[in-house]
Amino acid sequence: MKKEVRCKKCKYVIPVKSVAEDRAKLARELGKEFTLTCPECHTISTYHVNDVKAKKSFFTSMLVIAIMWIATFVIAYLFYKYFDDSLYYYGLLVFIGIPSVILSIYSKAETKQISYFNRYKK
Ligand SMILES: [Zn+2]
Repeated sequence: MKKEVRCKKCKYVIPVKSVAEDRAKLARELGKEFTLTCPECHTISTYHVNDVKAKKSFFTSMLVIAIMWIATFVIAYLFYKYFDDSLYYYGLLVFIGIPSVILSIYSKAETKQISYFNRYKK
């Protein structure tokens, strides 16, 4: 999940660097109101934590997918190496099944986090 605010002048999306899961934690981290400089128009504006919106992070999703593919590839390889042919097909099922299961769990958890963040107002 990534957090961002929109520039008050040019509407450019400015990323907010924070690991906070909700606005209360974000307020503790940055203060209830904080200033940010827009990288696009260089306007310095004050933002309230309620201006911050959480969104799905494309980069983290990609990272999760990459890690999963590596892990499942290793599992599939071990199956191939240590088990006979019939079991190898189960290995292939695992190879396809596990990443999609983990990704859907991860995606659901992230969606929940995002809606929690966006609902909770400080
Ligand atoms: Zn701007």
